[in-house]
Order: sequence, then C-alpha cells, then structure tokens
Amino acid sequence: MNPQATETGVRQLGHFVGGRWIDSKSQSFQDVTNPATGVLLARVPLGGADDVAAAVLAAREAYPAWRATPPAMRVRPMFKLKQLLEEHFDDLARTVTREHGKTVDEARGSVRRGVDNVERACGIPSLLMGEALEDVGQNVDCEAVRQPLGVYAAICPFNFPAMVPLWFLPYAIACGNTFILKPSEQVPLSAALLIDLVQQAGFPAGVVNLVNGGRAAVDAILDHPDIKGVSFVGSSPVAQHVYRRGAEHGKRVQALGGAKNFVVVMPDANMDHAAEAVAESAYGNAGERCLAGSVVLAVGAAAEPLRDRLIAQSRNYRVGDGMDPKTEMGPLISKPHRDRVVGYIGKGVEAGAELVVDGRPVVAQMPQGNFLGATFFDHVETQMQIAQEEIFGPVLCMIRVPDLDAAIAIMRAHPLANATSIFTTNGKHARQFRYNVDASMIGVNIGVAAPMAFFPFGGAKGSFFGDTKAHGMDAIGFYTDKKVVISRWV
Ligand code: NAD
Repeated sequence: MNPQATETGVRQLGHFVGGRWIDSKSQSFQDVTNPATGVLLARVPLGGADDVAAAVLAAREAYPAWRATPPAMRVRPMFKLKQLLEEHFDDLARTVTREHGKTVDEARGSVRRGVDNVERACGIPSLLMGEALEDVGQNVDCEAVRQPLGVYAAICPFNFPAMVPLWFLPYAIACGNTFILKPSEQVPLSAALLIDLVQQAGFPAGVVNLVNGGRAAVDAILDHPDIKGVSFVGSSPVAQHVYRRGAEHGKRVQALGGAKNFVVVMPDANMDHAAEAVAESAYGNAGERCLAGSVVLAVGAAAEPLRDRLIAQSRNYRVGDGMDPKTEMGPLISKPHRDRVVGYIGKGVEAGAELVVDGRPVVAQMPQGNFLGATFFDHVETQMQIAQEEIFGPVLCMIRVPDLDAAIAIMRAHPLANATSIFTTNGKHARQFRYNVDASMIGVNIGVAAPMAFFPFGGAKGSFFGDTKAHGMDAIGFYTDKKVVISRWV
C-alpha cells in the first residue's frame, strides 16, 4: 500500500517503481490540499531525472517478458483491475472529489469514463489483430502484425485525476508495452489509489510505474532515450513544448492541449433544453473541463430568450463542498487559479462586456475554500480577452451574431479548436455546422461532446499536437508499430 504518514501525521507520497513504492530521490515536496476546505491532505515529491531514470530502468527490464506474454494472458490482470475498480469505485470517486473539488456525482461520472477504457482494453486480443492477404504475388503472402514498442509514459493534467490516466494506462500495457504515469502534482492521490489497485491486480513488477513531479519530471521523460512514446494532456503551451521536445528526441507524441469552446444556439432551438445544456457545459466541473462551452454564440432572435434562461440557470447553481450531495458546483483547484479566473471577470468588465450574473461575492462568503460562483456575461465582443483566452472557470460569455455563417467564422478564426456544439431543430443547420467547423469533438443538441472509450478523443489546431488521438482505435495505433511480413514458400 502506498505510503506512510510522517511524524507530523501528513501522508508523504513516493514513486512506484519496479512493483513497490519508494522514496523520492528529490528532496523537494509540494502540499496537496483539499480545495473545498484548505485541509492539507498529503505532500507530493517533485521527482527529477534520477527518479525518472529509475522508473525507466524498471520498465525496460520488465518489457521483454511482458511483451512475450500472450495478449490473452496479458488481459487476465486487466480483468482483475476492472473488478477492483468496481469494488473501489466510490472510494476512487471520493478521492477525486477530495483532492480536485468536483462534486461526487461528477467524480463518479469521470471515474466511470475511465473504467470504460479498462473494460475496452480487456478486448485487446481482438483489437490487436493485424491484416493478411494471400497471393500478393505468385506464391507470395503478406501480413501486417502489430507489435509493442517498449516503454511509454503519460503526463496528466489536474482536472480529471483518475479518468485521464485511464485514457492511456490500459491500452499501453494491454498492447504489450510497459508504462510510466506522471500524474499532475496538484492531484496525485487518485493516481496513487489507481496504482494500488494495479498492484493488487497482479501485473508483473515494472509493467506499470509512477513518478510524481512537475516540470523537471516531464522534461526528464521527454529527454530519456529509452522512452519510445509520450501521451500528454494539459494546457496548449505545455502540449506544444511536450510535442516539440519529445519529437526532438525521436519519440512518438500525442499531446492534447487547451480549449476555448464555442456553443452555437440557433433561433429554432428548443430554448429550455439549450439553456440548461449550455449552463451545464459552462459550469459543470466548475468550468475546469477541456470540453466546457465557455462562449455561447447566440444567433439572431435566439439571444433574448436564451439570455433570460441563462440568467436563471446561472443564479441557481449551488456552490459548496463537492462531498455534500446538495452541491452543484465545487471549488476551483487552487487559490492562485481562482484569483486568475476572478481576474478575467475584471478584464471582462473593463473591456465593456455586460456582467449579468457576478459570481465574485461567493469568494468572500466562502473563504475556507477556492470557491467562485457562476458568472455570466452578455454583449461580449469577439476580440475581448474573455472571449479569446481559456479561463478554465465558471465564466460564460455570450456573443450575439447575426447568422450561422458569422458564428462559424468566429470559431474558424480562433487558434484553438477542441470541442463545439450547436443547438437547433434544423438538420441543414446542423450539417452546415459539422461540415465547416474545425473542432473535432462536436455536439448536436449536446452540451458536452465527450467521445466514449471506443471513439477517439482529441481536438484540432492549437488544441492538439500529433496525429493519433486518445483512446478509440487510435490508442492501438499509438501504442504499436505495424510490421509487414512478405513471404514466399516454393
Ligand atoms: P498544465 O499544462 O499546467 O499541466 C499538465 C501537466 O504538465 C502536469 O502534469 C504538469 O506537471 C506538467 N507541466 C506543467 N507545466 C509544465 C512545463 N512548463 N513544462 C513541462 N511540464 C509542465 O495543465 P493543467 O492546468 O494541469 O490542466 C488544465 C489544462 O489541461 C487546460 O488547458 C485544459 O483545457 C487541458 N485539458 C485538455 C484536455 C483535452 O482533452 N484536450 C483534457 C483535460 C485537460
């Protein structure tokens, strides 16, 4: 089981290397606090190159035997992991809430999405099958088989502490690779629990490893010559850095970045449904979601009825500790991040947007945590900072546009393109929208277009660096190489 309390009674985390938890070689630690209460939960080591090197060594040593284990045997501990995740489902969801702040319901939803990937990876014997064709020439046959490559690493963000690691870990190892997880240093506890379950599931030592840390650990992963590929999820500037530096060292990289997601509401939409879905998209997970719809583009006559409904929705969000079942919106991850979001509200006011619902009074009303209320701006202009930059908090901006073409033009001009949605009852509008937007996760009358485990997850333009996305069949492509064998037997 993962570590030990210190003399002060605070749990001090380590790294998981070669099948056991070990102390960090780095003496640098960061506090992990509950964002709803400010209570200190643990101290996480900020691992460096030595810690990464130890994990790579363990993963490299475990690789030959794991790779040679038949896929049908490799999935046995995977089935066990799935069972353990079900048994510890609530514990995991509560750990997510405790360290991240989202409501327990939201946490459960995200853990379910993570477990879906474990379930899917249990089918790896079928997913890994290659292709074959007899008689590509006279007496010549050809086949393509998929092979693992070696050691992979995944670097994760703070906003989905259990789900995002599970986008990668199950597929990487089911394909026969060995793996190093680098969780966000802001939320290391869910990953530690996941690793405890991996250990109980019976994967051989060294197949899955974990290094805690921040920037230094990331750069050590990117520079290490024995890591073949890196999966990354986080903000766009870091995604781009990971993509560049990983590629410089000859690695495969899939880097999922940040977002500024636009939601279009047509005048023909069902307004009640649209307003409810837009509010949930903007304020769910306190807006800390790469799929959050943070700018609503109200087309023509949609604006007034939508405004009224969004005001009602925004005022109704009950803010509190995510552990309380009555809470609808938890705190933000940290005080500096909360202050950054509050700063954006000030910038919106300064730029002349109409602040219709102001969530800032919540800051003083609930000083124990990093709380902020739902905030709604109307009459936002496209060039304003609040309309252009990822805020990653519960702030919804409404821009009024004359028609669908104008809405699409705003989206196409934006450098990020992760997800988008349209609300309409008109199939022609829906088709024009899906055909022309750049974002690659699209909702039609859906506020949060989150692809399930069996579909690829990832955006476009500055929201994604690479070519193969997370989960879906892309995961199998990312974690394997295709080897083609051409044979003649005469
Ligand atoms: P972040 O970029 O700050 O951190 C992500 C990871 O990178 C962490 O593990 C962190 O330790 C590491 N890191 C941070 N700064 C670094 C640096 N300068 N050099 C090297 N490594 C560094 O992101 P975050 O704040 O943890 O997560 C929120 C961001 O993630 C948002 O932008 C959100 O849109 C994005 N996100 C995207 C998706 C997606 O599917 N595209 C999903 C979830 C989150």
